[in-house]
Amino acid sequence: MNKQKVALITGANRGIGFETAKQLGEQGIVVVLGARRLSAAREAAAHLTAQGLTAHGIQLDVTSPADRTAAAAFLTEHFGKLDILVNNAAVGPNLLVRKNLETTEEELQSAFSTNVFGVVHLTRALMPLLRKSPAGRIVNLSSTLGSLSIHAQENSPFATIGTLAYDASKAALNMFTIHLATELAGTAIKVNSAHPGWVKTEIGAYDAAPTEIPEGARTSVDLALLGEDGPTGKFIHLGEEMPW
Ligand code: NAP
Repeated sequence: MNKQKVALITGANRGIGFETAKQLGEQGIVVVLGARRLSAAREAAAHLTAQGLTAHGIQLDVTSPADRTAAAAFLTEHFGKLDILVNNAAVGPNLLVRKNLETTEEELQSAFSTNVFGVVHLTRALMPLLRKSPAGRIVNLSSTLGSLSIHAQENSPFATIGTLAYDASKAALNMFTIHLATELAGTAIKVNSAHPGWVKTEIGAYDAAPTEIPEGARTSVDLALLGEDGPTGKFIHLGEEMPW
């Protein structure tokens, strides 16, 4: 078995996903960058290869059953295992949404299809490979916008935010984290939800967000590199537990 760790990062052609791949690559990990378009995946991987990292680009639209199967086949053929899965890809909140009840069925379908169903089905497809790792790590990129507890506070900071589709999809993703952690208890695999912060990306809004991308990738990288005594089934931002 290849001792070098292998990580797959989805939505790795830009933003937090690309930076996560870069930071993991800098730790000597082989990084596989998934992107909806093969050209974007290869271009992103080439940037890292040019910096001396070991990187591969694969086409991976997380909503595509064929792409998910092909990703598993690629990892099986090249490495025979997967040590780190970063479920980073997401459809962002529609900031033009006016009020919750104006959310369209299409927006709900789109958010859930990528942010929940895609994550669940990709994780399932890769589970046999994660089980072959001596210390599998799964990181689900969530958001404090998915926190039911924060939304339900009397003076919630999110009270005026009406991004129902995105927020509900991240709450559902958090539920997946909890269910999976329970199912994987007693195995070598840890699974956690990450809040990256409010980060300068397309989803975070480049002009408004206060956090630079390298800092935004830190929580994903920390959770990807958790030691044996690290947490599982938690919702974490920069080492601190977030309320579900
Ligand atoms: P971003 O720069 O907009 O990146 C989103 C990535 O997801 C892009 O690579 C995009 O690919 C990809 N993607 C979307 N749908 C996909 C699909 N069906 N299959 C594969 N890839 C898909 O945003 P980001 O801020 O880096 O977001 C990374 C993660 O952090 C997301 O899960 C997001 O919800 C979470 N997050 C971000 C913030 C923030 O403030 N930025 C806050 C909380 C949580 P294309 O280039 O093809 O569109």
